[in-house]
Amino acid sequence: MARDDELFAIIAREQERQRTSLQLIASENFASRQVREATGSVLTNKYSEGYPGKRYYGGNQIIDDAEDLARRRCCELFGAEHANVQPHAGANANMAAYLALLEPGDTVLGMRLDQGGHLTHGSPVNMSGRFYNFVAYGVTASDERIDLEQMAALAQEHRPKLIVAGATAYPRLIDPEPIRRIADEVGALFLFDAAHVAGLIAGGVHPNPVGVADVVTFTTHKTLRGPRGGCIVCRKELATAIDKAVFPGLQGGPLEHVIAAKAVAFWEARQPSFKEYSAQVVANASALAEALTGEGFRMVSGGTDNHLILVDLQPFDADLTGKKAQEALDLAGITCNKNTIPNDPRSPFVTSGLRLGTPAMTTAGMAEAEMAEIATLVGRVLRDPDNTAERAAVRDQVATLCSKFSPDF
Ligand SMILES: *Cc1c(COP(=O)(O)O)cnc(C)c1O
Repeated sequence: MARDDELFAIIAREQERQRTSLQLIASENFASRQVREATGSVLTNKYSEGYPGKRYYGGNQIIDDAEDLARRRCCELFGAEHANVQPHAGANANMAAYLALLEPGDTVLGMRLDQGGHLTHGSPVNMSGRFYNFVAYGVTASDERIDLEQMAALAQEHRPKLIVAGATAYPRLIDPEPIRRIADEVGALFLFDAAHVAGLIAGGVHPNPVGVADVVTFTTHKTLRGPRGGCIVCRKELATAIDKAVFPGLQGGPLEHVIAAKAVAFWEARQPSFKEYSAQVVANASALAEALTGEGFRMVSGGTDNHLILVDLQPFDADLTGKKAQEALDLAGITCNKNTIPNDPRSPFVTSGLRLGTPAMTTAGMAEAEMAEIATLVGRVLRDPDNTAERAAVRDQVATLCSKFSPDF
């Protein structure tokens, strides 16, 4: 068959964009060549509804080896009793966990979406918010850390069946132990959504919620640096309920090519180099936060101890919105996203904040010196966001910087 030049030209353009601009979206990374090789493999051709040894269709003996390997490596990596590697994404993993643990209408405690929680933690536009009664806890006004006192009070008042921890825009470690105690006080189950921090947990730079929470969900494509997908790990006693919820409860045939790539990612995350990588991700985020503070920006919570920072733009320029900042930076080759900050006066479509993360550029090989340079460039663009010439000059400097580093393309 002739080659689809039209589509592959688009992919080549995207590869060029990734190679020549700064990828600072905190949830993104550069998957390795072998992760992409597995994702693009012939395993995509196979239908494998069910689980290893219990499939609906024939011909799955070899596929079973791949999924078993992925499950085993996942359990070893996180110290888990059971792993389900089939969720197509982090959102699916959460929906499956809810389906396994809850009845429609049950009360659940989750983090406020405008203070770092995820859409699947009870947003009214998400299935979670439509099927379950979510009650939200937030961060304190004083230090912008998770307000455990408020969480405990809400737990006493609402007697939730489940407490969900985990966030999409929270720059601090989340200690699972005090949340476990709050859950135990009211007889609630505890779900830790480690979508963002799974790689940091695997790399030993974030507390491991596995064995503390009843269920841990995560994505495999963020800090874990694998293929786009989700996973659930849990205690043995919950294994059957979780497996049934994923299939046939929520999904159809699993993506075995992606599951194979997850196995590769779990293997990569067990290598000593992944510990070094994770430590460098955190060191880079700290360096970026410090340098941006030097440029006059305020860091929400005063800094970071994970892979991301949340910038409050208001003290830098009261009129500069997150939306405007994101657009100006994009034009200068710096990719990041607008984000609400705690008690943001602006809407989620406009915002007063920016979220920046270091997982991708750390994979490309950048370290503290480059973070300082990036902060300078961000400051230059945002001091005069409408200045076309300045944006173009920064764009050139970004391209030069990126040319010295390379993801595994
Ligand atoms: C990214 C994220 C998800 C969803 O993952 P997808 O793969 O995009 O569906 C769920 N929870 C949290 C906390 C996240 O950050």
